[in-house]
Amino acid sequence: MSVTVKDVTKWYGEQKALDHVSFTVSRGEVTGFLGPNGAGKSTMMKIITGFLPPSSGEIFVDGLDVRNHLLEVRKRIGYLPEHNPLYPEMYIREYLNYVAGLYALGTRKKSRVQEIIRLTGLEPEQHKKIGALSKGYRQRVGLAQALLHNPEVLILDEPTSGLDPNQIVEIRELIKHLGKEKTVLLSTHIMQEVEAICERVIIIHKGKIIADGAEKALVNLQPKQSWFTIYTEFKETISPEQLTALSHVTEVIPQGNHIFTLRCEKDIREQIFQFAREQSLTLLSLSLISQNLEEVFRELTSEG
Ligand code: ADP
Ligand code: MG
Repeated sequence: MSVTVKDVTKWYGEQKALDHVSFTVSRGEVTGFLGPNGAGKSTMMKIITGFLPPSSGEIFVDGLDVRNHLLEVRKRIGYLPEHNPLYPEMYIREYLNYVAGLYALGTRKKSRVQEIIRLTGLEPEQHKKIGALSKGYRQRVGLAQALLHNPEVLILDEPTSGLDPNQIVEIRELIKHLGKEKTVLLSTHIMQEVEAICERVIIIHKGKIIADGAEKALVNLQPKQSWFTIYTEFKETISPEQLTALSHVTEVIPQGNHIFTLRCEKDIREQIFQFAREQSLTLLSLSLISQNLEEVFRELTSEG
């Protein structure tokens, strides 16, 4: 089952929170929706789940237009909101029974609630009131609530925020497991989260999609207005000025008197090879250094 976002723009009064956003996510993949705070992630998720209307654009869940098929869409989606509205006075089971009632699970209700309590690891705390739970367990209740009606699509807004490291590992494992069968879109402002659980990443910044691709491919993605880093090693000693003189070189960082890292506006490996030949130099090493996801993200979302 897929979720398709088509040219969605959202204004809050004078402020544009989403700017012509389009993407599709499909079944059997965990997609990370990565962006700094204020990028528009929660807004996008509220729009996908039909809790907020877009100013323009369309959303399709399993081919159904969210505007015209809200109830059908809600049946297919499990949503963990950013500020998970739980009822502190309710017991875990009481709350999940109540949610199950909303989905009209009928006679399956009791066994399904039990199954979900087990799946989300709530068993040890199941006798407690929600208000008495730690943040990690409250987040599990939120996930349980999202999973109860066994939806095909999961929309999880910062599912690990506020959890301690052990809880983070557990929740990530659970999401990865769920991602094998379902369509999962999770938002995060943490690159490591994407590296840990996502096959694909969509980077959003100031309401615009600025990158979209396989997590591994994105590492090699060279962002716009960016630099390329080239590692060179010559057999002979040369001066940095000789390299600075090459076109498209913006910076030469010497690592010794024959090893240099170059910052360039383009991939100029071919020109460097030419240069070495013309100067009768022996080039021992010449390679393009790929950035890691964190560098790509930092650069894509940096100011100016
Ligand atoms: P993220 O989840 O990526 O942190 P949000 O979608 O919450 O981003 O917010 C995107 C932008 O829209 C932010 O600048 C935020 O201040 C603004 N915003 C969010 N919700 C509202 C609202 N209800 N009214 C006005 N502005 C809002
Ligand atoms: Mg948010």
